[in-house]
Amino acid sequence: MSEQSVTSFRDRARSWLAANAPRRSDAQEPDGEPQAAGVAAQREFQAKLYDAGFAGITWPKEYGGQGLTNAEQIAFGEEARGYALPTGVFFIGLGMPGPTILEMGSEAQKKRYLPKMLRGEEIWCQLFSEPAAGSDVASLTTSAVRDGDEWLLNGQKVWTSGAQWSDYGAIIARTDPTVPKHNGITMFIVDMHAPGVTVRPLKVATGSSPFNEVFFDNVRLPAGSVIGEVNNGWAAAVVMLRNERVTIGTMGSPRTSPLSYHSLSALAARLGTGADVEVARRLARLYARERSVRLFGQLLREEAMAGRDPGARGSVAKLAGAELAMSACEVAEAVLGQAVVAGGAGDPEIDAVIMAVIGSPGSSVAGGTNEIQRNIIGERVLGLAKDPGVDRGTPFNQLRVGTLNTK
Ligand SMILES: Cc1cc2nc3c(=O)[nH]c(=O)nc-3n(C[C@H](O)[C@H](O)[C@H](O)COP(=O)(O)OP(=O)(O)OC[C@H]3O[C@@H](n4cnc5c(N)ncnc54)[C@H](O)[C@@H]3O)c2cc1C
Repeated sequence: MSEQSVTSFRDRARSWLAANAPRRSDAQEPDGEPQAAGVAAQREFQAKLYDAGFAGITWPKEYGGQGLTNAEQIAFGEEARGYALPTGVFFIGLGMPGPTILEMGSEAQKKRYLPKMLRGEEIWCQLFSEPAAGSDVASLTTSAVRDGDEWLLNGQKVWTSGAQWSDYGAIIARTDPTVPKHNGITMFIVDMHAPGVTVRPLKVATGSSPFNEVFFDNVRLPAGSVIGEVNNGWAAAVVMLRNERVTIGTMGSPRTSPLSYHSLSALAARLGTGADVEVARRLARLYARERSVRLFGQLLREEAMAGRDPGARGSVAKLAGAELAMSACEVAEAVLGQAVVAGGAGDPEIDAVIMAVIGSPGSSVAGGTNEIQRNIIGERVLGLAKDPGVDRGTPFNQLRVGTLNTK
């Protein structure tokens, strides 16, 4: 791709965004739960983005993408930085199941699902975690049993972000309990509107319901719904988890997030707490930390676009982002001063900071906890001894520890 064509793509992106996208300063920060009207508006915006040629920029043309290079993707990202694109409900589908289907799905799956995902016609969720299988997700007990050409799915998932407005989900289920836990798992595409699927939103401390518990009661999965190979779902799960860490770890916190340096320093100036030396020092440290997390995320994103596997450095970005969020909470406390005790008392900026502080611990759990990221970094970056994994060689149905199997 010539430099000239990248420049003309950038120019086209710049004028399209100026005419069609809300600027960050005009947009309200999402709290993770768009209402039904918000979901419809996001579908509409994603369709416009697609029709204008700015969705799936590097995805192959035959699957609905633009078939362009990383140079155009980077140019679009740079131009879009000042805008709050209302596309949050597609974050999971396009960041996790989409790339996994691209890498491991069948030709029929790529043709059927990817264009509609890109065009915002179908929303996707990721169904991995279960009540007794989170960090150790390979201990999952949701089962899929062959029934002729189809599969019968039974079990429960939990913490499924966006399941309440999803059309499809990528789910991992146990298909062979007689082999060690990582070897008997298969990844499927499940229709979230199929008979036997029940979605129950879970309310979190902020009052919103960003995620759900999902029950599967004899749900029929067609033969063509397997992503990758039967009983090789762990390989597909690893691809999806890798994409998840990079997607979450490199998204950064927008300047307008209530806990960003930009927002907190403006609030400190307004409340008068910014004059305090200790508050100013904390704000300066937040600025430095935020900047380094953002630049590291940008580096990984650009490397990933250039086709380089970020490996365990995705865990470094994920951990650094989660720790930044928690340190920003402490800075927020200092900035608010007495207002933290009095509450917002109708001040929307203070209310937004308090809500963001309440929601922040989720960042050290979503996409794998901080402890799990440290284990990965310890083993794969620092070369420390591997977790012994005593249950790795034992058939799943003979395990007694670390699973619900108490027989
Ligand atoms: C905002 C949010 C969105 C989410 N969205 C989704 C989603 O869309 N789909 C989905 O499938 N899941 C989702 N999750 C679930 C998330 O992946 C799990 O919560 C996470 O993997 C941890 O699992 P758990 O909650 O079962 O905790 P557990 O695994 O039970 O962990 C409990 C504690 O033990 C620690 N621990 C566990 N194992 C080890 C170990 N080996 N070494 C050291 N410490 C350990 C953990 O760090 C943690 O502190 C979401 C979670 C959040 C908070």
